[in-house]
Amino acid sequence: MNSPATEPSFRESVDIMFNRAVALMDLPPGLEEKIRVCNATYTVRFGVRLRGQIQTFTGYRSVHSEHMEPVKGGIRFALGVNQDEVEALAALMTYKCSLVEAPFGGSKGGLCIDPREYDDHELELITRRFAYELIKRDLINPSQNVPAPDMGTGEREMAWIADQYKRMNTTDINGSACVTGKPTNAGGIQGRTEATGRGVQYALQEFFRDPEGLKKAGLSGQLDGKSVVVQGLGNVGYHAAKFLSEEDGCRIVGVIERDGALTDPKGLNIEAVRSWIGNHGGVAGYADATYVEDGASVLETDCDILIPAALEGVINLSNAERVVAPLIIEAANGPVTAGADAILRDKGTVIIPDMYANAGGVTVSYFEWVKNLSHIRFGRMQRRQEEARHQLVVDELERLSHHLGDKWSMTPDFKDKYLRGAGELELVRSGLDDTMRAAYQSMASVWHERDDVQDLRTAAYLVSIAKVAASYRAKGL
Ligand code: GLU
Repeated sequence: MNSPATEPSFRESVDIMFNRAVALMDLPPGLEEKIRVCNATYTVRFGVRLRGQIQTFTGYRSVHSEHMEPVKGGIRFALGVNQDEVEALAALMTYKCSLVEAPFGGSKGGLCIDPREYDDHELELITRRFAYELIKRDLINPSQNVPAPDMGTGEREMAWIADQYKRMNTTDINGSACVTGKPTNAGGIQGRTEATGRGVQYALQEFFRDPEGLKKAGLSGQLDGKSVVVQGLGNVGYHAAKFLSEEDGCRIVGVIERDGALTDPKGLNIEAVRSWIGNHGGVAGYADATYVEDGASVLETDCDILIPAALEGVINLSNAERVVAPLIIEAANGPVTAGADAILRDKGTVIIPDMYANAGGVTVSYFEWVKNLSHIRFGRMQRRQEEARHQLVVDELERLSHHLGDKWSMTPDFKDKYLRGAGELELVRSGLDDTMRAAYQSMASVWHERDDVQDLRTAAYLVSIAKVAASYRAKGL
């Protein structure tokens, strides 16, 4: 086993995983290093007058790779934000965008703050001030660096950032494209909020279409009826759990939150749990399930699928040996440390890696950015024309049927579905599903066909790094 004796930092973990993959590649000398290193990290300390005194905040924007521009990646508001973390997350963005063919380099930002300690107005002042610092250095810019939501931020913060950019760049007609994940009434796109969770669902659906992958995980059959444990019922975990339970027949047998976990072998009602958390600030006290105070212990539950959808590093050297789920899908960024990854690989656990599993967010961000640059909603030109052409077919079939004595007819449900042209949400979902399927196929073919590749993470890195390398080479590097 090649797990390190002590836990490396998050960035070191990403480097270890990167190194495992490049060892199997034949990159020209120097290029490997060029791809691995983070190009630049900007640190800003700024003051905001709040509650009668000046408070100083520390924020970062890290640019990992500019082989394609703009660079892309979220902005996180959390107390644990530090340079090591943003750099690790920026690197993951490079590999993620490359894997799912979103034409961006990788970046990430963060502000050291507990957003729950501030009211809306204070948060707006802080966000606008942070955005101002980044905008004036082109670290937020539609053609250079385009942030998005991440932990602790959402569409409200993105709307403030977009507005701040527009105030500072009044003649930029593409100003809306300076940030993604905006509300739909402020240049956003339908389906962005749910996108990362939806992507996790599509990734699992595609995994369950891969008999060889299923065999490697020791699983069989359909998603229907599979038991699932989700850590974190934030935006990503909530949507993944909701779609998997409501649409795919999965049983969510455990939900792990900050203050403990809930378990129920029959399956939890995700909407009810989410609304309980919303009203009570945690899962404790929820009546229709068993409460477990030591939430992290539920990561060790015997279930089919484990979905860490919260923080990095939650599956580490201290608990990896006891994690028994045969399939882990990394909805969070970096939830499994390099050491834990080695332990789990040895055990035969299949891990669907973060750079693929949670790429739904940036994929739909890409659609939003394109929508902003084209200044038109997807489907606006085609939808009714598509419906009119379908109507022609239906009318003609009905005329023929009548001619033949009305022996058959279309079911109203079929007719209704067939006649409905695709709107923005349907197109976004279709584009996301296609992206998740194609990226899975590209990873899985490496995983299944190369004897020296034992896991999906290495396969994902190989596919992704090869594309980044090709793009550097095309530039003459
Ligand atoms: N923060 C998300 C991620 O880690 C989304 C990034 C984006 O949409 O640019 O992938």
